[in-house]
Amino acid sequence: MKSYSLCIILSLALTAHCAPASPVTVQDEGFAESYLKNFFNLTEETGPTIRRGISPVTKKLSEMQRFFGLQITGTLDADTLAMMKKPRCGVPDGKIARFSTFGSNLKWQTNRLTYRIENYTPDMSVSQIDDSIEKALQVWANVTPLRFTRIKSGTADIMISFGSRSHGDYYPFDGPGNTLAHAFAPSLGIGGDAHFDDDETFTFRSDRGFVLFMVAAHEFGHSLGLSHSDDPGALMYPTYSYRNPDTFVLPRDDVNGIQSLYGPNSDKDPARPEPEPPTTPDSCDSTMVLDAVTTLRGEMIFFKDSFFWRSNPQSATAEQKLITSFWPNAPSNLDAAYESRQSDRIYLFKGRRVWAFSGYKPVRGYPKKLTIFGFPRGVTKIDAALYDAESGKTLFFVGNNYFSYDEARRRMDQGFPKRVDQTFSGLTGKVTAAFQYRGFTYIYSGPYMFEYHLRSKRLFRVLRNSYFLRCSNF
Ligand SMILES: [Zn+2]
Ligand SMILES: [Zn+2]
Repeated sequence: MKSYSLCIILSLALTAHCAPASPVTVQDEGFAESYLKNFFNLTEETGPTIRRGISPVTKKLSEMQRFFGLQITGTLDADTLAMMKKPRCGVPDGKIARFSTFGSNLKWQTNRLTYRIENYTPDMSVSQIDDSIEKALQVWANVTPLRFTRIKSGTADIMISFGSRSHGDYYPFDGPGNTLAHAFAPSLGIGGDAHFDDDETFTFRSDRGFVLFMVAAHEFGHSLGLSHSDDPGALMYPTYSYRNPDTFVLPRDDVNGIQSLYGPNSDKDPARPEPEPPTTPDSCDSTMVLDAVTTLRGEMIFFKDSFFWRSNPQSATAEQKLITSFWPNAPSNLDAAYESRQSDRIYLFKGRRVWAFSGYKPVRGYPKKLTIFGFPRGVTKIDAALYDAESGKTLFFVGNNYFSYDEARRRMDQGFPKRVDQTFSGLTGKVTAAFQYRGFTYIYSGPYMFEYHLRSKRLFRVLRNSYFLRCSNF
């Protein structure tokens, strides 16, 4: 019986971050060492090191932290351990780079490849598995001259199978969690083959278990010659995030990677233009306009497109993730977000709907309609929201106006809406995001951030987005 679910791992990862850091145990150290051996080529430490200097473990820990955009401490801290425990692909991570390949000679010499599905997992129906595999290969065929033909007997270029623990190669799987699958770079024999860990629960499109289409599309990237990417939005990023298979479009980084090996697709149907490959927002882009900003249990969370950055006060860098990696049901391209300390929830807004989460857990009954807050008719979306800890009120920004909502009484305050520029001097443009941090109120307008003290209504500074986002290209 397989009872593993993704939520268990996510909860481990989050607990490690949100709760006071628990001490690292001896088991954790052993786990971390084998992780670094498996994925970052840590070689056996043999006795006391003769040369003085950084130990190989410290060096590999730093390398791993840099790859994942964590704070580079060289020590096994809670964030690093949490990242190591995330479900991921079994292929090692390479040098630090956006897309990377196994080498320009490690590619198929023909554009016509065959595949064969050798066996099936009991988690899904045969037709769902066939469909997931076919669509996962099509992801790559869409943007290259590669074409895939299924065969049902004999040896195919890409042999696809499900197995658990030892399954016929030198890379046994590890039971539920952690490694989900692995695949081999193009070559004869085992080259190109993709193996899926049958101790996982694979699904067709549910956010419980692992979406086979997503895992397979990633593995086929390896089958075709791509290595891992450190772009958190890339399909070739090593850890798994839920994404809706119906709306998935291969990100720009992966398109660049595969086209560097095989070139673009020359016979595209001009009548059916492909959607533009999504790019990952860059914290160093000084013109970027954030969608929404909020706090979450002491951290700052900045939303943009399908991504968010999280930044805690101790960290020098902000970690970037897909929204769905924390909140699988949440929408992308948010309008607004805020954290209510009264209910220990965060609320995410898009259009006429609002989603509520307690930490990362969806609150029952949501998404709900915007009208639950008591907005007048005609308010079809909000631009920004911020929770004022001192008064327990939430301010909602709509166009040139703002409303005040009483979190304790759960109703709108009398005398609103008021004009934004009446309270927030100097603010003439549209409010695009807002939040409160360490007693200051930050109102975003485009790429700028206005710093106020709410009680005294004083404007202190006008800053750029990058003030908190900590652009890390230096
Ligand atoms: Zn991989
Ligand atoms: Zn294998």
